[in-house]
Amino acid sequence: MQVEFEGENMGFCNSCGRPVYKGNFGTNEDGSENEDYCKDCFQNGEFTEPDINVNEMIIKVAKQMIEKNPMLREEDATGLLINFIPHLKRWCPDPDEEELFEEEEQMGYRTYMQ
Ligand SMILES: [Zn+2]
Repeated sequence: MQVEFEGENMGFCNSCGRPVYKGNFGTNEDGSENEDYCKDCFQNGEFTEPDINVNEMIIKVAKQMIEKNPMLREEDATGLLINFIPHLKRWCPDPDEEELFEEEEQMGYRTYMQ
């Protein structure tokens, strides 16, 4: 799976990292579409889960990926997301802070819950 961080042809939700396209865009307070986020993450100008942290988001998305793709190993899903989701705008508004996430090791999402 190729992940393009700044591709212009393909948009990713800046919260959960899944592809966004017409029909699943988030919505602003005035009801207009917000192309930065998907509708599951951002509705009416607010995050649907304002208190979720980046680790919880990784776990949530990893679970969704494994549900859709039972052959996918938990470590692979989580490892991919650890290298992607923390770089998204919601979690990393300042690109200089990216180093904060480099210490993360690959691990299954259950490890986070211990
Ligand atoms: Zn989203």
